Amino acid sequence: MGFGIVFLCRPIGLRHPTVGDAIMSKKKPPPTTTDAGIPVASDEHSLTIGPDGPILLQDHYLIEQMANFNRERIAERQPHAKGGGAFGKFVTTQDVSAYTRAQLFQPGVETEMLARFSTVAGERGSPDTWRDPRGFALKFYTEEGNFDLVGNNTPVFFLRDPLKFQHFIRSQKRRADSNLRDHDMQWDFWTLSPESAHQVTVLMGDRGIPRSWRNMNGYSSHTYMWVNADGERFWVKYHFKTDQGIEFIEQGEADELAGKDADYHQRDLYNAIANNNHPSWTLHVQIMPYEEAKTYRFNPFDLTKVWPHGDYPLHEVGKMTLGRNVTDYHTEIEQAAFEPNNMVPGTGLSPDKMLLARGFSYSDAHRARLGGNYRQIPVNLPKSPVHSYSKDGAMRMHNVSDPVYAPNSYGGPAADAERYPEQAVWAADGNMVRQAYTLRKDDDDWGQAGTLVRDVMDDAQRSRLVSNIVGHLSAGVSKPILQRAIEYWRNVDKDIGDQVAKGLK
Ligand code: NDP
Repeated sequence: MGFGIVFLCRPIGLRHPTVGDAIMSKKKPPPTTTDAGIPVASDEHSLTIGPDGPILLQDHYLIEQMANFNRERIAERQPHAKGGGAFGKFVTTQDVSAYTRAQLFQPGVETEMLARFSTVAGERGSPDTWRDPRGFALKFYTEEGNFDLVGNNTPVFFLRDPLKFQHFIRSQKRRADSNLRDHDMQWDFWTLSPESAHQVTVLMGDRGIPRSWRNMNGYSSHTYMWVNADGERFWVKYHFKTDQGIEFIEQGEADELAGKDADYHQRDLYNAIANNNHPSWTLHVQIMPYEEAKTYRFNPFDLTKVWPHGDYPLHEVGKMTLGRNVTDYHTEIEQAAFEPNNMVPGTGLSPDKMLLARGFSYSDAHRARLGGNYRQIPVNLPKSPVHSYSKDGAMRMHNVSDPVYAPNSYGGPAADAERYPEQAVWAADGNMVRQAYTLRKDDDDWGQAGTLVRDVMDDAQRSRLVSNIVGHLSAGVSKPILQRAIEYWRNVDKDIGDQVAKGLK
């Protein structure tokens, strides 16, 4: 029966050979064993006293099967629960060594990698075509340890202070009373958080529902640091531009697809790779000299802002190609642990408050979901040697050898500050405060969202933007919040706000 279910659940054309195939092809299948490798006597019958009698407690195989089944699900990610991904490689095609000494970004270097794409607010079974930002999480298995970039398909985010993040996600999830998602709650939060305007504009526009994961860009969104071999520092933003071209799905089609095929994006990626149609993205970076950040007209670390291309053009770096599907979703995607603090030498974080908080929160989430030794799960294991002093804990897989303390006189690992100096650093000064970023000349919540609407979108895009906003606001948003939403959009762009007001009437 178990084989039958696996067989039926696999979409047509996506099957790997199974024991079921062996039966169909009359080949002798391998013997079933317990998890301890002991052959079992039956796949179908429990151990009983006589054919009609009670089940016996010593039927270890039955108990193992039931116990395993009861523990199959692990806690889903909170948020970004629904997703899929694939393995691939990243090749550095250009010479950016003037800006970073990172081994993976040296000309010609090829690095194995993993990508996971996801929606944000829905649960593990939720439809891929709901309007939502998409996660764009990457893990590069470099010679100097794992390098992770945990970005989105949008260059900005709803917030700039991590204290609001938990509240934001709760406003997108389900109500405490009815367990329903609630647009009133979403717009309540957004309209009380004007810094969300830029990201909400992107979300309500065409890029809020990509045609496929292959047809969207990935952005680091955050500003990071690069350090070259001479110790010179630069601020960078990463842009993975799709080589398949940007494509989107209109709301009506997306709603239909949500009912027909909840796994539309996951299926698209899997099928494309299975059919040797390997998607690729070209990595570009924007580079800001370290000192310029101090006087740039916007705060360059504010996650709700882009750096306009006119100020900081894109520099090509290399290409990422996804060419290998996962063979075990649970161990390779569900247990994949991406973490923004995985920065290899030549790369680093920045004073973006959201980024610094994510450095803690991702590893904490992995410890909670997967256990303290989550980095030893094969998909998370670096391909470079690990010589850490971490020891023991539940599910530790790898042997630890003495000495397990430092300093020691017995040849244990020793940090090499000459080879790997702490370079990705910056200076900070001031009293301890709870305050917003200091405003600069061009810092405001509405300006870049307005530029997007007026200077980037064409008439057709603006018209779809208004229709998407009106549709979203028409789904149960209360009157006072509707009024605030109209003002919110008038602040982004007077004309868009007026059209939203008209559409709502
Ligand atoms: P540019 O004209 O140089 O860039 C505009 C960029 O907007 C395009 O390159 C494209 O990004 C992106 N874009 C196109 N259509 C849409 C859409 N419907 N929704 C979201 N993004 C879209 O101008 P600036 O660099 O001065 O930026 C102007 C505005 O463009 C910004 O305020 C921001 O909203 C948006 N934008 C800017 C980005 C940046 O890093 N500067 C990146 C993405 C958006 P891409 O080439 O990455 O596909």
